[in-house]
Parts: sequence; C-alpha cells; structure tokens
Amino acid sequence: MSYSLYLCRFADGQPAPMDESAIREVLGPVTVGGLPPTGLPDSWDLDTEDGGGSEVYGDALGLTFNRFSPGQILDHVAALVRRTGAAVLPLDCPVILTSEADRRHLPESLRAEAIVVALEALTGQAIQLVITPRPEPRQRPLLPRFPYHPSPVATGSVTTSDAPCACCGQERGWVYTGPVHAADAPDSGICPYCIAFGKAAERYDATFIDGIEGDVPQNVAETLLKRTPGFLARQTPNWLTHCGDGAEFLGLAGAKELEKYPDAVDHLRQRWPDDRFDDFLASLDKDDQPTAYLFRCRVCATHLAHADFA
Ligand SMILES: [Zn+2]
Ligand SMILES: [Zn+2]
Repeated sequence: MSYSLYLCRFADGQPAPMDESAIREVLGPVTVGGLPPTGLPDSWDLDTEDGGGSEVYGDALGLTFNRFSPGQILDHVAALVRRTGAAVLPLDCPVILTSEADRRHLPESLRAEAIVVALEALTGQAIQLVITPRPEPRQRPLLPRFPYHPSPVATGSVTTSDAPCACCGQERGWVYTGPVHAADAPDSGICPYCIAFGKAAERYDATFIDGIEGDVPQNVAETLLKRTPGFLARQTPNWLTHCGDGAEFLGLAGAKELEKYPDAVDHLRQRWPDDRFDDFLASLDKDDQPTAYLFRCRVCATHLAHADFA
C-alpha cells in the first residue's frame, strides 16, 4: 500500500515557506546519497532503516511525499511538521493541523474539515491513524421478511452477529435474541433465516411465540408459532390477532408512545376493564416494567396492545 501526502505551511490562506534548515536536518539523514550542501534538489528519495521509502519533491513552500511507506518515513514527516508548523495534507483525508490557531490560516475550502492533533502528539503513528482507511462496516444481507414481525431489528428481537448460526452453522450476520420454546434447543445463537424458513422449528420442535390469542387459520398459526421471531417480555404474552389474522408486532410501548395510538389504548382498556386502568396506563414505560406491546392489524390497520398486568 502506498500513499501520498503534501506538507505546507499556510499564512493567511497562502503557502508560506518552511524553515529550509529544518527540512535539511530532518530529511537529510534519510535521503539516498544525502542532500547537497546548499539548496534542495527538484526531487529526491528517502530510505529509512525499517526498509521504508518515499519520493520527495517540491521546495520550502510545499513538499510532496509520494508513494511513501508507513512506518519511519511518517516519523520523519511528523518530525518535520513539529519543526516547521506545517499542515499535513494527506490525499483524500482531512488536513491535519497542530494548533487550532492555524485553522484560520488555511485556504477557506480546507478549514471546516481540518483536524487538530496537538503538536506533541503529532507522531508518525498519529498521521498513520488519520490516513489509514477504516474498514468498511460489514455489509449484512437483507433479513428475511417476517409478515407478523416486520422490523425485528427495531424491536430488538434480531441483532447483528458475526458468529455462525447454532442451527445452520452459517455466518449470516444476524442472530435471533428472542425466546425459544423447546425442550432441547439452544436458547441463543439461532439465525433469523432458520426461523423464517422453519428450519429451527423443525429441528428443535421449537416455537418462538408462546401462544396466540383468538382464532386464526391453521397456516397462520403455524407461521406465527414456528416462523416468526418472538419477543422477550416479562409475562409471556399471547400474540394478538384481529380480523381473523395474526397482527404484526411493532415493538414495546410506554404511556408516551401509546398517546399516538388511541385505538391501542381502547383495545387495552376493553381487555382489562378495571377502574385503575388510567393509573396503570400512566405507569407503562417502554424501557421499564410494566411495558405494553404494540401490534397492528394487517387487515384493518387498527392498533392493538397487550401489557404486563401485575
Ligand atoms: Zn441459521
Ligand atoms: Zn383488524
């Protein structure tokens, strides 16, 4: 891997000369064949003890380090920056300054993005950290579609994982974190694909949902129990249904979230007609107990809720 960077000292937006004797003292010892007694050549090569190298060209108004190798070459670049107060302009990276006060001296287009590394902290390694491309975040495959649990990542039932699936052994990039109801199944480490495709249910005779409230056709019940990610709750809630179909689970909700869904509050109230309901409703908390579980009918779009009733 090779890089290129440019050193330049700026004053009021214009390049200003660096101290040439500093250039000679810092780069001379690692210049192949040494520097001439006076002046700087048009270009020259650097060679460091760790086997690194770089082409250098330019003059006191700006030096380009071309095709340099990381390591000691950058230590020399850093030393030169500390001596001259130059800014480091790596290719395709923000400008590195050694003092916030230098920002206003940069050409305007470079000012906003420039980063400051304190003079004493400006080492070769510090430059290296700025110019090393960060690894791209891993691209994860699309999740299978769960008709009754459309956003299992948002609800917390599926999360990222780089471990192989406990069921299929493949690294899918995702893992199911909800409940597994089975006599003999791993309680964690199953990928969402093994749930969606029914593989985990079949292999472990498992369900991921405890029960279903109301009557739904057999195929809906099968999909809900065996191919739908469940969710963790204090009391194992039954999956809500409406209009003869399973409802889709939208996530946890507290009193505040439920304000947006008066239909869900009505639904909750109908199921527990208790005169303490309003107090109970006010106590619901998305992040604490008791919590409500928000659903939406897939047919008529009515919101429904279940809650942990003490
Ligand atoms: Zn799997
Ligand atoms: Zn409905």
